[in-house]
Amino acid sequence: MRRKNTQIPCIGVSYSIMPAKRGTEFLYFRSLTLKQMLRTHTCGELTLTNVSQAVTLCGWVHRTREMGGLTFIDLRDRYGITQLVFNSDLDKVLGEKAKKLGREYVIQVTGKVVERSNKNLKIPTGEIEIMTSSLQVLNSSKVPPFTLEDDTDGGDELRMKYRYLDLRRNMVKNNLLNRHKVARAVREYLDGQGFADIETPFLIKSTPEGARDFVVPSRVNKGEFYALPQSPQTFKQLLMVSGFDRYYQIVRCFRDEDLRADRQPEFTQIDCEMAFVEQEDVLQMFEGMVKHVFQKVRNIELGTLPRMTYADALKYYGNDKPDMRFGMLLHDLTGVVKGNGFKVLDDAEYAGAIAVPGAAEYTRKQTDELTEFVKRPQIGAKGLIYVKCLADGTFKSSVDKFYTEADLKKWAEAAEAKAGDLILLVSGELTVARRALSELRLEMGDRLGLRNKDVYKPLWVLDFPLLEKDKDSGGWVACHHPFTSWKSEDEQYFETAPGKIRANAYDFVLNGVELSSGSIRIHDRKKQEKMFAAIGLTKEETETKFSFILNAFEYGAPPHGGVAFGFDRFCSMIVSGQENIRDFIAFPKNNAGRDTMIDTPSSISDAQLKELGIGIEHH
Ligand code: ASP
Repeated sequence: MRRKNTQIPCIGVSYSIMPAKRGTEFLYFRSLTLKQMLRTHTCGELTLTNVSQAVTLCGWVHRTREMGGLTFIDLRDRYGITQLVFNSDLDKVLGEKAKKLGREYVIQVTGKVVERSNKNLKIPTGEIEIMTSSLQVLNSSKVPPFTLEDDTDGGDELRMKYRYLDLRRNMVKNNLLNRHKVARAVREYLDGQGFADIETPFLIKSTPEGARDFVVPSRVNKGEFYALPQSPQTFKQLLMVSGFDRYYQIVRCFRDEDLRADRQPEFTQIDCEMAFVEQEDVLQMFEGMVKHVFQKVRNIELGTLPRMTYADALKYYGNDKPDMRFGMLLHDLTGVVKGNGFKVLDDAEYAGAIAVPGAAEYTRKQTDELTEFVKRPQIGAKGLIYVKCLADGTFKSSVDKFYTEADLKKWAEAAEAKAGDLILLVSGELTVARRALSELRLEMGDRLGLRNKDVYKPLWVLDFPLLEKDKDSGGWVACHHPFTSWKSEDEQYFETAPGKIRANAYDFVLNGVELSSGSIRIHDRKKQEKMFAAIGLTKEETETKFSFILNAFEYGAPPHGGVAFGFDRFCSMIVSGQENIRDFIAFPKNNAGRDTMIDTPSSISDAQLKELGIGIEHH
């Protein structure tokens, strides 16, 4: 049963949880009548309306200043900062005690709220201060290893080792509180739409999402292992077979991948599934969710989301997560550049170009820099050709030897370049050249200030391929995961050209970042078997790994589909407009997958290994 005001016991006192007021920064406020508590108010709420009240506050000593007989202390807690005043002329003992307080000491003070003569209008409590009459030290503190200010002097490593102190800083603290706010808005929407929050197990068997599994040895079943879920994919599908029809979970997922910046081995998803739906229903439902969250958390109206096919995203943006905040689209110039005896272009599978607005005046040094940029190993282009579209209508290019003014004019038309623009052209193998152009486009977008983090341009990317070639094995693998269904009109390509089969799969993309993936699933045993065969699983492998879901499909599996949003990334994009997931996780791992605070991963004792039945090698 849901009640409006819920009493939650908290450290032996009652917190009254109030419904949120629109526009308030944080959702819950404690009530003001908490007699048994160690404090009567927080450090973020006293204003001129409280003047002459007697109050008790608790918090951390943020800063201390002495001026003559007066000691000023900024007392800090989760809610803000309140200035305390100790007057040694009135109470010498108290004044001396205050002077001895160190940074981050935990104290309790009682005093009277008075109007400040020297007001600080930047903070809500800046018009008052507390004339302190008693002080109790609740705990002392060592000097913190870095300053707990917005602009801290602590490096990344130090802050991670002392993460509990880093979390006292406003930026990190607010990120986590905002994360909570996002989670609430998500739940509010999904609960309102009849989704049931159901937990699925963590100790399972492999769920293929394209990464390696983290495994957990079983002590009672020696020599056997559980896998941690890469996602709850199969379980949420089984819940649809069970008839729950709308499921969600804000859930931890585990993927043992090669580490990259902004990847975490454990991360959180908003995982959802619906039965009796088609792709359109799923898109509308989750478009609604994203809009609701943006509205609630940022007060931003997103409007209707555009949609683009995967094929068009690659053609015009060079990748499947287009940043739509700016134009500078890719143009295919393959047909235009050939036939002038310039071998590089004559032999190229593809030649594509972007027109960079207003960059015709780029110097040799700048164009050289861009050439180096696309030649970096992670991008892999062989080189870069440029054409400057000069203000007087003439052209100056790096290939003047092979092309006349008239030729270059055709290039400019094909690239939709105007006088003053710089055409950048990359040629070679289609996928490599497109990737290079995509990176170049984003780089130029950054340089021209076109990627404003306060502008939000989301879209759906649709019709992903079902299968792709695995670089290492040369076999086919599922682009999304093997439970994804395909367009019936593409069924014919299973025999002839599996790479051409389009899946009923979709991604939600925001400002060049993929925030969710999903698909309409297979719900038929025969089709699922066909998919497993297409990705090279033998009958035996299929049987040992997936018989449970194949069997389930034989007991009345409804048509179903769903989606999962990367929750950490979602929070980071909504709140900060940037992709910095570590700042939105309370206790993240570093780039080497380590938690340096608790120092893990770490070895375990021989006895423990033996108990788990894991062989120990001694050298
Ligand atoms: N399980 C998928 C993933 O983790 C999402 C989905 O298809 O619903 O990406």
